[in-house]
Amino acid sequence: MRAMNLRSLLRRTLALSLLLVLVVISSGQRRPQPDNSRSKRPRLVLLIVVDQFRYDYLERFGDLFVANGLRRLMRDGASWTQSNYDHFPTYTAPGHGTLMTGAYPAETGIVGNDWPDRATGNRVSSVSDTSEKLLGGKPDAQASSPRRLMSSTIGDELRLITNNRSKVIGVSIKDRSAILPAGRNANAAYWFSLSSGTMVSSTYYFDELPAWVTSFNSPRPADKYFGQKWERLLPQAEYVKRAGPDSPTWEAVSARGDTNAFPHTITGGATAPDSAFYSAFDHSPFSNELVLAFAQQALTNEQLGQDDDTDVLSVSFSGNDYVGHRYGPYSQEAMDVTLRVDRQIATLLDFVQTKVGLANTLIAFTADHGVAPIPEHSGAIGLGGGRIKTTDLLNTIRAAIKARYNADGRSPDPTAHYIHKFNDNGVSRDGFINGNIYFNYVALERDKVNTEELAQVVGTAALTVPGVARYFTRAQLLRGATSITDPIERRVLHGFYPSRSGDVVLIAEPFKYLGDTITATHGSAYSYDTNVPTIIMGQGVIPGRYLEPATPADIAPTLAALLGITKPSSATGRVLIEALKK
Ligand SMILES: [Zn+2]
Repeated sequence: MRAMNLRSLLRRTLALSLLLVLVVISSGQRRPQPDNSRSKRPRLVLLIVVDQFRYDYLERFGDLFVANGLRRLMRDGASWTQSNYDHFPTYTAPGHGTLMTGAYPAETGIVGNDWPDRATGNRVSSVSDTSEKLLGGKPDAQASSPRRLMSSTIGDELRLITNNRSKVIGVSIKDRSAILPAGRNANAAYWFSLSSGTMVSSTYYFDELPAWVTSFNSPRPADKYFGQKWERLLPQAEYVKRAGPDSPTWEAVSARGDTNAFPHTITGGATAPDSAFYSAFDHSPFSNELVLAFAQQALTNEQLGQDDDTDVLSVSFSGNDYVGHRYGPYSQEAMDVTLRVDRQIATLLDFVQTKVGLANTLIAFTADHGVAPIPEHSGAIGLGGGRIKTTDLLNTIRAAIKARYNADGRSPDPTAHYIHKFNDNGVSRDGFINGNIYFNYVALERDKVNTEELAQVVGTAALTVPGVARYFTRAQLLRGATSITDPIERRVLHGFYPSRSGDVVLIAEPFKYLGDTITATHGSAYSYDTNVPTIIMGQGVIPGRYLEPATPADIAPTLAALLGITKPSSATGRVLIEALKK
């Protein structure tokens, strides 16, 4: 009886299952199953970078932003509040090298804005290239190219899969900020030449500038800002409330023809436009206006985003960095240039909406680094701010090297050459740059000095200099003998590229500047330099505010996932899956 029931139950279940399968099949025939492959690629990838923009600027000034600028990105995009660079040093070139590669300087090779080239003994920049010629500037001015970038970018990968039909263009005031996000197989990068006051490029990309660029330059668009006054955008009371008085003592501005108070008259102390004026122009929000106008021309004339082969436009606003260096992050000037770049970004987004449609555009917004308070400011309020002088540091180190390797006082002192010297445009400089100390391998070989032992001697001596917190040696970093749970150690390791980095890496205490004499700067592994916005907006992105840890190195892998393309060659960042539609 029980067995019979079970058998009939089984038979009935089988019949039901068969029916269900038939229904599914027939409905499948009537209505096609949804295609699970990705929908059409966006027509444009737009990377917007503000040079020197801390995450907290979004919070400090967000209520003063316009609705269609950064607030639109925060509202309609995914925004990570805990986005930190995970490398040291935090400079412009390493940051821009990371954005579209998803890789750290340890992979991109972009270990600083400049470094001593071991092969030639010369200081090189991240993009300097003596084998190319500058286009659109003074003929004797130095050219630039992406040849030192060791990994592919999002643009490079798009051009690979579209047989070079994707167009990839980078625009900025700074060469490195235009060139590095675009990549090695980019169509073009354009930047501003201080010597000619025009937008330039190099023979790396083409033999002559496109006609539209020459037309852009011909009315000398930077010159119209000569003598213009930079005033506050909003009433002064708002600035006093958020940024304090206009000219505190630590804003020791020595710019020619200007003071540290509003309004700033942009002449550079010159009577007509010259390189001093162009430098003053860079240090104002007006340079961002030029970059914005040029980016609009690039979109129009290169017909970016006009077909299904996804194009890339990278726009980096440098004015904020120049202003921040001169007046510091808590200045009225930094506040004003932030409010203005928000409005400039709004104009750019509105323009892209008209030309391409924001629905067809994938946008990433970020910065290349933050900035530390002016040391005299952070010192005055008890945060330990101060400056470690390069001469104090190197004298202490040299004395320790001599005590260890020339205790008997041989003359001439063979240890006098143990620290590498490099040629910086005809001037001989000590091998101390980007917090890295470089050894002279020829002298060490001659005297049979063990480099790791010397590194220990140098590091130990450096720790006796007030303000130096830690050191790492080349051998230690090559072995990977660092803790990945210690963020400082991890960031130093991520910034180390053996053939370009030094032999000892020094880390200053928080709020201390190591060798820098400029009013305000960045470069450290501390949060004020590492915490920057990361916002991604576009098809497939779930808008929201995300508290998960992120880094700008995650931008490229996430864009690659959204585009359905191979990640750039060395991408180590993670795909920010919490904000991606399945
Ligand atoms: Zn800077």
